[in-house]
Parts: sequence; C-alpha cells; structure tokens
Amino acid sequence: MRSAEMTATSDVTIVGGGIVGLATAYALVRGQTTVPGKPRRQPAVTVIDKEQDWGTHQTARNSGVIHSGLYYPPGSSKARFARAGAEAMYEFCAEQGIPAQRTGKVVVATSRPHLPRLAELARRGRANGVRLSEIDGAELREREPHARGVKALLVPDAGITDFAAVARRLAAILQAEGVELRANTELRGVHRESSSVVLSTTTGDIRTRRAVNCAGLHSDVVARMAGSIPPARILPFRGEYFHATGSGRDLVRSLIYPVPNPAFPFLGVHLTRTVDGSVHIGPNAVPALAREGYDWRTWSAAHLRSLARDRGLRTLARKYWRTGAGEIARSAFTPMFVRAAQELVPEVRGRDLHPAGSGVRAQAVTSDGTLVDDFLFTEDEHWVHVLNAPSPAATASLLIGRDIAARASSPWSG
Ligand SMILES: Cc1cc2nc3c(=O)[nH]c(=O)nc-3n(C[C@H](O)[C@H](O)[C@H](O)COP(=O)(O)OP(=O)(O)OC[C@H]3O[C@@H](n4cnc5c(N)ncnc54)[C@H](O)[C@@H]3O)c2cc1C
Repeated sequence: MRSAEMTATSDVTIVGGGIVGLATAYALVRGQTTVPGKPRRQPAVTVIDKEQDWGTHQTARNSGVIHSGLYYPPGSSKARFARAGAEAMYEFCAEQGIPAQRTGKVVVATSRPHLPRLAELARRGRANGVRLSEIDGAELREREPHARGVKALLVPDAGITDFAAVARRLAAILQAEGVELRANTELRGVHRESSSVVLSTTTGDIRTRRAVNCAGLHSDVVARMAGSIPPARILPFRGEYFHATGSGRDLVRSLIYPVPNPAFPFLGVHLTRTVDGSVHIGPNAVPALAREGYDWRTWSAAHLRSLARDRGLRTLARKYWRTGAGEIARSAFTPMFVRAAQELVPEVRGRDLHPAGSGVRAQAVTSDGTLVDDFLFTEDEHWVHVLNAPSPAATASLLIGRDIAARASSPWSG
C-alpha cells in the first residue's frame, strides 16, 4: 500500500547502479556539472539497482580496456568523451589506488587487404587527437613478439583497469557523501504527481524532481515505463571470453587488437592482459536469448517473441546474416574461436584456452534496423534517458556522468 510516510523524497534519482549511473551521482554530489554556475546546494541524490551489488552487469563483464578514442567518427560523442574520459579514468584510479596501467595497444593488419581500413583508423585517430604511430611487422614483433601482421598502429595511451573495482569505489564514496544507495531495489512503475515523478520500486516509492535512466540492458523498458517512446530498442549481444593458461599466458604482453569490421559496432576478438596478469581472449558477438542471457541456456520466451515481431530486427538479421552466422559458429565451435585468435597470434593453442565467462552488450537498434553507433540520450521535463552507452562508456564514464549530471541539474539548481 502506498502512503505519504512511506514515500522517500529525492532531488535526483538514478535508476541503475552500473558505472554510468554511479559516475552520474558522483558528478552531481561533487558539483562537476558542465553548466555555468554551481548548484545552490548539494542535491539529495538516490541511486537504485535491482541487484544486491553495484556494477554487476556490463560494468563487471567487459575487457577492462581504457580506450583512447581511436575508432570513433570525429565529432561523435564517443570521440569527444573517450579521450578526455580515459585521462579522467587514469587520474581517478591513481587517486583511489585502483590498479590501472597505461600499457599501450597494437591494432594489427594481418594481411594487405586490411591496410586501407588500418589507414582509415589512423586518420580517425589523428582527427580525434589520439597519439599513435604506424609500425611495420618487425617493429610489431619487437613490441609483441608472438603477434604477426604486415603493419600495425601503436596506441600508447590505451590501457587496462578493473571497471567493477571503479564502480565499487564510486559507491563507497557516494555512501560517505550521504547519497542514498538502495540495492535490491527494482523500478516497477512510474507516475506523475504535480511537479515530481513517483518511482514505484520493490522497496517502496520514491518521489523525485528529476530521474535518470541508466538501466543499461533494460534502458528502453525503463524509458517506456516513464511514458517516453524511445527512438531505439535494446538488442542484447553476448560476448564470450576465454582465458589462456600454460604457455598461452606468455603470448601477450599488453593488448593485441584486429582491424575491426567497419559495418559492425564491435571491435573483434582481441587478446588482453588484464590488471591481475591473466590473458583474456574475446569477446565474440552473438545475439543473446535474453537481456541477461550470459550463456546459450539462458533464454526468455518474452524476449524471443518480441524479437520475432520486430521488423527492424528482421532487416538487421537480413543485413548481417553472414557475419552473425560466423559469430554463432565461433561460439558453438571453440576451434573456430581459436582460429580467430590465431590470425593475430599464430601460436595460440586450443588446449591452453578455457571459458572465462561472458558479458552482454546493451546495443541500441532503431526501428529500421540500424545499429546505433554513438551514445544516445533523450530528455524530457523529468527524465534523462541513457539509451545507448556501449563501449567505450566504461572508459568515458566519469565524463559521461558529468554530462548527464548537467542535463539532470538545471531545474533544481536554477
Ligand atoms: C563484452 C563487453 C566488453 C566491453 N569492453 C569494454 C572495454 O574494454 N572498455 C570500455 O570502456 N567499455 C567496454 N564495454 C562497455 C561497458 O562495459 C559499458 O559501456 C558500461 O559498463 C555501461 O555501463 P552502464 O552503467 O550503462 O550499464 P550496466 O553496468 O549494465 O548497469 C546498468 C544497471 O542497471 C540496473 N537495472 C536495470 N534495470 C533496472 C531496474 N528496472 N531497476 C533497477 N535497476 C535496474 C542493472 O542491474 C545494472 O546494474 C564492454 C561491454 C561488454 C558487454
């Protein structure tokens, strides 16, 4: 039963305690907004998440790579946020004692047909202000002795961290700053009440002046709950990883990436040395059978029905069936996955690889079947909706958080 006493109040409530939601709360309480003039008072901020812990979905299930802004079209939000966001992330990790290393990475053209795409990446990177150099096969082997390629880009400012650790630290700072953190709290409904909205959750109602939707894989569902018609829906794409054992652990010094397929918003199977010293290989990109479908056994009839009904997704499937079939085959047959890794590092052996979990990307797709490439935000009187925050959103989270905080601030800071 809803009663006035049971309804908590807040200036800004953030739905979703992944790295983007937590970074937004951090920017709000630190006054790190990009609007001119400071808020007159620190806002009362609440963050809710349906899970018991903070940052358990995309934030904890990724490659842990601090991207440098190489891939993104000049002028895009991804390009704008990635470079400065990476520097903010290195600084935050150094301040907070969270492991992070500026390891550098190589993007490798394994054969001559890849060279025009590598040249285009170099052009984009330079236009985005990314430090990079073009190296030949011999220089590549000096840097990564087991990698093979005809040419590569060396990007010295790329690196690694543990984004789940960043999220946990943000949550601890927010708690100390008096932010109300409500775990195990799922948003179930929204209604308007005079100048506020009331969020009905599994742990009671919250009346809030502004709300921010950072619900990742469920962001389109939350937007519809809030009465908005989102311009795109979420299509969950799983990425599976292997980790290397035995001599496989010695084959990678830092980060080895392929030249990505420009038609696809994913970077391709790469080899990554993580902050704990292990070597991860992945992720592929297969359609997940549920929004949190972390393996082939996890599926949702409602999700599959909604996919089957969606015209845009049928267009998408027609467009990408060949790439999709290849990715599914690589998921089903480990030797095919191994072969993808061997293109970059021929000495990789299947017997040294062991499954290392997966992550599901929240990829927005429009009704005409276009995969949304850039970050996507919409706003109305009460809400800011984050409808597409794929990679490099973990890298750029501290800057994205400032941008969202600025959007969410204006009415109460006035
Ligand atoms: C396989 C993979 C590899 C990646 N690699 C990289 C990388 O190397 N570098 C990089 O920068 N980025 C990478 N990314 C992208 C990055 O992980 C994401 O962009 C980032 O984590 C998005 O954070 P988020 O806070 O938006 O989403 P999430 O971390 O998914 O958080 C959303 C939160 O909302 C909560 N939620 C959902 N619905 C509700 C509800 N109704 N009520 C309450 N709570 C709700 C969920 O429980 C969840 O905790 C990768 C992603 C994947 C999947």
